[in-house]
Amino acid sequence: SDTRVEAPTSSNPKTSHPKPKVKADRVNATFVSLARNGDLWDLVASIQQVEDRFNHAYGYDWVFLNDQPFSDEFKKVTTNLISGTTKYGLIGEEHWSFPEWIDQQKAADVREDMKNREIIYGDSISYRHMCRFESGFFFRQPLMLEYEWYWRVEPSIKLFCDIPYDPFKYMADHGKKYSFVLSLHEYKETIPTLWDSTKTYMKEHPEHIAEDNMMSWLSDDQGDSYNGCHFWSNFEVGSLEWLRSDAYTDYFKRLDEDGGFFYERWGDAPIHSIAAALTLPKEQIHFFNDIAYYHVPFTHCPTEESIRVDRKCSCKPEDNFDWNDYACMSRRAS
Ligand code: GDP
Ligand code: MN
Repeated sequence: SDTRVEAPTSSNPKTSHPKPKVKADRVNATFVSLARNGDLWDLVASIQQVEDRFNHAYGYDWVFLNDQPFSDEFKKVTTNLISGTTKYGLIGEEHWSFPEWIDQQKAADVREDMKNREIIYGDSISYRHMCRFESGFFFRQPLMLEYEWYWRVEPSIKLFCDIPYDPFKYMADHGKKYSFVLSLHEYKETIPTLWDSTKTYMKEHPEHIAEDNMMSWLSDDQGDSYNGCHFWSNFEVGSLEWLRSDAYTDYFKRLDEDGGFFYERWGDAPIHSIAAALTLPKEQIHFFNDIAYYHVPFTHCPTEESIRVDRKCSCKPEDNFDWNDYACMSRRAS
């Protein structure tokens, strides 16, 4: 269905240095970044850290996705910095637009109302397309279909410690499907009916609900209401096959039909998190404690000194967010 894919640049003609020799035991994985051309330099800062702390030794591919064509500058600069093969995809119209069943007037009224209530990104159309895309479509882009694993990277993130092993391979070898470094509470104003739609999904698809699930982390009243706990999805290492499974896509379909991406302002973080917590057994969700990470305004910094020494970490342990009241870690631990 997708005719707007740009030809992948498998080797950049203007890169002077050769790509490194890649490790023999890599898994079938890629980094993925959704970005605008204007995000280039903030994304470059992230890329440099990922390459320096990890990927220079592995040479994993990197897929860039955009609702507009990437500029030559964007492609040249990113390809020059990345040790793996870089690919650039243009997102199809149907994955970045209002579905036909959305009532435009109702959606516009919501944006106006959220603007008056000063809800973050509440009046933004593009942010809603972004959240819907990250919830339902990034893993189905033609360039992503050849991979089994992804690692999402956003502009202006920081990695504070060396990563001297392969997190993709760790996931594959240990039967993990989804991972996180930070967890927190969602703004309830952005998701008033997300849990109602989730309950409908659970009723329609009991076959998708894992027996040993994490409902007790999502809900303090046995599933009656959602407590807002979610994994922060600007960092994710996960299984694309899980996202492409019926369990996940049936959930997305339910949510998309209910319209909350536009009638509210559902984020992809609570959606990925709820889906993982309900459709995967607990032990398939991994906390990468040793990946020290920052995305404005929160930091995950390992509190164990041995990790910070061994991995040459540069984060300040007091900045660690895990046990803050707003985080959802203590809840998970109990
Ligand atoms: P926040 O982290 O929730 O504040 O949202 P961001 O502004 O970081 O956006 C999340 C991700 O989507 C980032 O990787 C952005 O580069 C990307 N993004 C956001 N809006 C757009 C957009 O309109 N078009 C494209 N192509 N990417 C976008
Ligand atoms: Mn961001």
